[in-house]
Amino acid sequence: MERILNYIGGKLVEPQSGGYLDNIEPATGKVYGEIPDSDHQDIELAVQAAEEAFLAWSKTSREERSRCMLRIADLIDDNLEMLAMAEAKDNGKPVKLARSVDIPRASANMRFFATAILHESTEAHQTDGEALNVTTRSPLGVVACISPWNLPLYLFTWKIAPALASGNTVVAKPSEITPMTAFIFSKLCKEAGLPDGVLNIVHGLGAKAGQALVEQPGIKAISFTGGTQTGKKIASTAASQFKKLSLELGGKNPNIIFADADFEKALKTSVHSSFANQGQICLCGSRIFIERSIYNKFKEAFVSKTKALRIGSPYASDTQVGALVSKQHMEKVLSYIDLATKEGGALLAGGQRVVLDGEFAEGYYVQPTVFEGLSQECRTNSEEIFGPVVTLQPFDTEEEVIAMANATDYGLSATVWTSHLDRANRVSAALHSGIVWVNCWLFRDLRTPFGGVKHSGMGREGGWDALNFFTEKKNICVKL
Ligand code: NAD
Repeated sequence: MERILNYIGGKLVEPQSGGYLDNIEPATGKVYGEIPDSDHQDIELAVQAAEEAFLAWSKTSREERSRCMLRIADLIDDNLEMLAMAEAKDNGKPVKLARSVDIPRASANMRFFATAILHESTEAHQTDGEALNVTTRSPLGVVACISPWNLPLYLFTWKIAPALASGNTVVAKPSEITPMTAFIFSKLCKEAGLPDGVLNIVHGLGAKAGQALVEQPGIKAISFTGGTQTGKKIASTAASQFKKLSLELGGKNPNIIFADADFEKALKTSVHSSFANQGQICLCGSRIFIERSIYNKFKEAFVSKTKALRIGSPYASDTQVGALVSKQHMEKVLSYIDLATKEGGALLAGGQRVVLDGEFAEGYYVQPTVFEGLSQECRTNSEEIFGPVVTLQPFDTEEEVIAMANATDYGLSATVWTSHLDRANRVSAALHSGIVWVNCWLFRDLRTPFGGVKHSGMGREGGWDALNFFTEKKNICVKL
């Protein structure tokens, strides 16, 4: 039984209440460890430690902050295999995916922001030769970073890195469903010599530890990634305290395939963008719109490739689809499959829980599932399922598909497949979405703004947007 501890003031500590929650391995459905059931007392201690560390860290030179973060990045790389195994065990994702995507991206996040701060410049405006305006940026103080379970270390570091790089101290709360790599990360921070209290990690339930963190008056800003309902709750708590807020929320992303697209590329990538990480990526395209003239051809090829995906233990090297993250989430996904059938959908592939052999028999496996024949307005096509379930819908015109794509409350990302540049530009401009991929999917450049519109969030992460979020600007006007 591995017992996870909080990381407060540079020490690995038990929760004040002494209470623990079960940590479950999704591949087997078995308890394999314990997570601190932290509450407001642990949050108070963490915020206090972060406040004490703030002055020194904010005054530490950017070169030194950068060096320290680069040491952490190197340690992540040195421990790639161990971290990838831990992520697969905690989350159910194929270890191959964790090894090639999650963990390398975590060290890339640290390196990206550690080096970005070495290249920042300061704005100045000369006003008609009469005054010089200099705009400075300062860290905010103690900030909160709250992350979800789907890409645990990847999204955890995506927030922590810009917060630390710009001189803030942090209290972070990883998801209680996948806390293990954040715990290992705390040990790596100690090993790298990150000064005590600069980063504090408190584990526990969202409604208890997370809510206490959001309410804590010492917190100056909250960077949150998670569900839209949780985002609403956090926004309403933070608003009355005027805390700065960045919200990265859910999606119901359209994947639009025009008849003039490169068929094989669109097909291969669409299978990937539907079912990678068991469909549990906020950017997965869950509504696939196909131009009518290629609808049947695309449908047959897509269904056949979907049926050929290998579902298995996250630890097997040939597994393409691992376990869903929890029993509760698996039940939610299965209930949506049920709903889609009740709403009149025709099941083309999947639709069932998968029971594997031996020790994996109680794991949370669900077949990649494809439906067609559902109306645009039905719940299956408007609510986020966040699992391996997609719908296929034909369309006739550009105008029609734009209206269909925009017909949900969400607006995180969209994918467009076409070989016509004009069409790519027109459709991209018309989509209500923070991110548009043209002839690709999840091709990331960490300098670009990342975030959604409508109920998919508020604010942007990535590049200077993240560094701006974690700093406060001040304009100093000097009369010449
Ligand atoms: P969630 O909202 O349930 O939890 C996210 C985090 O918030 C967890 O750490 C949780 O403990 C914490 N939390 C819950 N209630 C809280 C509260 N009242 N106060 C403070 N913290 C609280 O989300 P999840 O189920 O972990 O993640 C899945 C969701 O995340 C999906 O909707 C997905 O689309 C979204 N997501 C969005 C992005 C993006 O970049 N937009 C990326 C990944 C996941």
